[in-house]
Amino acid sequence: MRPLLNKLHKDKVLNSQIVFDTMEKVDRADFIEKDPYCDDSQFLGYNVVISAPHMHCYALEYLYPALNNFKTMNPENFRFLDIGSGSGYLTVCLSKLIGDQGIVVGIEHIPQLYEKGKKNIEKQHKNLLDDKKIILLNCDGRNGCKELGPYQLIHVGAASEKIPQVLVDQLDKGGRMFIPIGLDPDNQWIYVVDKDLNGNVTWKKTISVCYVLLTSKEKQLKGEC
Ligand code: SAH
Repeated sequence: MRPLLNKLHKDKVLNSQIVFDTMEKVDRADFIEKDPYCDDSQFLGYNVVISAPHMHCYALEYLYPALNNFKTMNPENFRFLDIGSGSGYLTVCLSKLIGDQGIVVGIEHIPQLYEKGKKNIEKQHKNLLDDKKIILLNCDGRNGCKELGPYQLIHVGAASEKIPQVLVDQLDKGGRMFIPIGLDPDNQWIYVVDKDLNGNVTWKKTISVCYVLLTSKEKQLKGEC
């Protein structure tokens, strides 16, 4: 991973030691066979791709500063949500970000991708599944998972038309969500949504991106995303 991480650093995408250390602990070769150390997205099957390393890196760089709001919280109580967990790569990164403490809930709606993600994680991080530090769910992620929340961090790996209120509701006070917004691939942006300690919600439109859509299983399999 190191040459790839050095490239991301040179490109000014990777700027913090904590994200460097996190991504170094998760070998992308466990999650995709072809060119794992290239900064490109790769086809995962079922009409979707594993995001390019620079997007995983942006996600972690945008998300981790919100953890400053939880300095007094016992790390074992952390709850993160990864919607559209796909290959499982970022799900593991989110767990590594907090030293395998707390719980990361990954939701993937395509059964075969859910199984693939689980197998990928088992290669070197089986303990996280065994110890329920990572909980993978095979269901529609559009409603999040209220039962295991609220979440200090939410990562959404597929694009939505607008910021889903149901996910904002599952964000903890002080929490942050990273979500691609926009159905048109030529006009799609990462929104960083913050809920402050009083529960007030604000958002920032950040980088321009091109993600697959957060959609139904049927539409995705028909290639309508
Ligand atoms: N973050 C992952 C996958 C990104 S691709 C990675 O980098 O590997 C987007 C993923 O979202 C795909 O795996 C797709 O199947 C999933 N997805 C799309 N709509 C979904 C929904 N409604 N519920 C759960 N997962 C969904």
